[in-house]
Amino acid sequence: MFFMHKCKLINSYKGCILFLFFIFNINESVSSQNAEDFANRTFLKKLNHDSSYLTLKRKIESEFGHAKPGRWGQFVKGVDENLSTKLKYIAFTFDACGGEKGYGYDKELIDFMHTEKVPATLFVTGRWIDRHFSTFLNLSRDTLFEIENHGLNHKPCSLNGKSIYSINGTANAEEAFDEIEGNARKIEAITHHTPRYFRSATAFIDEACVRMASELGITTVSFQVLSGDAIAFSPDSVIVKNVLKDIRPGVIIIMHFNHPAWHTFEAMRKIIPKLRLQGYQFVKLNKFALVSH
Ligand SMILES: [Zn+2]
Repeated sequence: MFFMHKCKLINSYKGCILFLFFIFNINESVSSQNAEDFANRTFLKKLNHDSSYLTLKRKIESEFGHAKPGRWGQFVKGVDENLSTKLKYIAFTFDACGGEKGYGYDKELIDFMHTEKVPATLFVTGRWIDRHFSTFLNLSRDTLFEIENHGLNHKPCSLNGKSIYSINGTANAEEAFDEIEGNARKIEAITHHTPRYFRSATAFIDEACVRMASELGITTVSFQVLSGDAIAFSPDSVIVKNVLKDIRPGVIIIMHFNHPAWHTFEAMRKIIPKLRLQGYQFVKLNKFALVSH
């Protein structure tokens, strides 16, 4: 409407086209400027000159620099995996990891969630945001979704460089802090929403990192239902079976929205009507308190 009004005022077809071109270019340059400002490397450099970030980092380093990592796994002490409810509410969570073969965007899946009005929580890494800045902005403004923290560089959170599935974890407390707090601040700076939840890359994490996140006011979230959609080209029938067999009130389901060529969307198309028939409703994580099982 605003553009049409302006076009009428300009009162010539050519002038109108020029005006729209001008506006388009301003928007483009603003968003590319922003994307550049928030890119992982630039943003982390900026954070490391920010006194509030540095003070907190020194405090965390002094506390965790020589701490014992404790147990390593997806369900270690302090990690939550369930919604606190006995009613038929469940939460779909979708990760966007990034990485050599993981920089896709499953638009078909996100469109389906819209058509079906299924809310979900999206765990997003800083590096995936860098590849999909305008898509990320749109998702963050979409009330159907809740954006949460999947780490700055998709490094499983570890105090001593543990690795899993050939992915190297953070090497020390300083890197772990950047992975958690760096991405939380990046999401906050872009979206003006402070993430409350952190899912470590691969969901593996050590107990010290869980405590670190907690001190930063962040709850570490794992899952109770493993869809298996991250196994490349897993058939949709397998994903459907994996999800449906473990469904019960309060479960958090882990899936992905960064592999459009895999079968998450096809599986969801079958899962959602079946769960609705069973009387389940879908919520974002922030609807309930979280608990471990
Ligand atoms: Zn991931």
